[in-house]
Amino acid sequence: MSMPHLYLKCASCNEEWSLGSLVGRSSYQLPDGSLAQLHKTLSWCNSCGCYSPVEKMESKESLHTKLGSLFVDASEAEKFIHPLILFIFKIFGKKACERLRDIQREVSENQASLKMLSSRKSPPKCLNCGSTDISHKSAFEPPEYHPNCGGEVTRHESNDLRIIYRLQHRIYDVEGHFLHLKES
Ligand SMILES: [Zn+2]
Ligand SMILES: [Zn+2]
Repeated sequence: MSMPHLYLKCASCNEEWSLGSLVGRSSYQLPDGSLAQLHKTLSWCNSCGCYSPVEKMESKESLHTKLGSLFVDASEAEKFIHPLILFIFKIFGKKACERLRDIQREVSENQASLKMLSSRKSPPKCLNCGSTDISHKSAFEPPEYHPNCGGEVTRHESNDLRIIYRLQHRIYDVEGHFLHLKES
């Protein structure tokens, strides 16, 4: 997959940091084998001394809210799956079945995320070095200032340079330790 070159740049010292480390899917693997989505953002890591991909935890409240609206969506989709309606509106029925499958997948992912949050003990980590000595502010929330020089850091995109990424699925344990790669 080829993407424009996305990077953060400091207006004062001109240092740049690529956003490439955020490309690709990452998941937590729970002890029961289920996968929960690992959300990441770029934040300053004191141990790496640069902007690094870090874990971005969802709150239990937002997961509960998401699950609540998914259950509403599911009952809406189910209305179309009544056999008689399915016969009359084959297309609606098929779409509703697909939608229901998507909703069920989202529900089980969100439930796995809740389980992961309940067993999680350590604070968010840097996904490069594993350190917890990181800024808890995402570098994408302005204003962001380069800790080394105080210059303002902003996001840029260059279409002159496109980067080819090999999409990989990175698997971590519930404490955010890297386990292995899965081709996707
Ligand atoms: Zn700087
Ligand atoms: Zn680090």
